[in-house]
Amino acid sequence: MITNKVTPTALAQPVELDAVRRRARLEGLLDIRDRLSTLSVERRSHGLEDAMQTFGQQMAVEAAIDQEFPEVFAERFGAWVAAEVQLEHDTYRMHPECGICQAIAQRAGINIDPPEAA
Ligand SMILES: [Zn+2]
Repeated sequence: MITNKVTPTALAQPVELDAVRRRARLEGLLDIRDRLSTLSVERRSHGLEDAMQTFGQQMAVEAAIDQEFPEVFAERFGAWVAAEVQLEHDTYRMHPECGICQAIAQRAGINIDPPEAA
């Protein structure tokens, strides 16, 4: 028999859906932050003029993460900084993980893979 009675399971669904949406929102923000961080460090390392614009976009996304998910922001901030320091490089030193360096090396036919990866 079909009734319009609200069951405990039906009541739980919106909460679960909200949690799923919230998780998707967080994953989306973290993905955008990672991409902007990489772009920002690469462009700064190569002295490109739009590096500060990319960095500003990264700061805006990080502010959104801090506002909506402060515990995640606090947990990950140190790792974010460490990853940026690791990727940062002098303009005249090729970095194997830098997309700009990879493009330059590919065009010039240079192998910039670290020795242990070769
Ligand atoms: Zn580079």
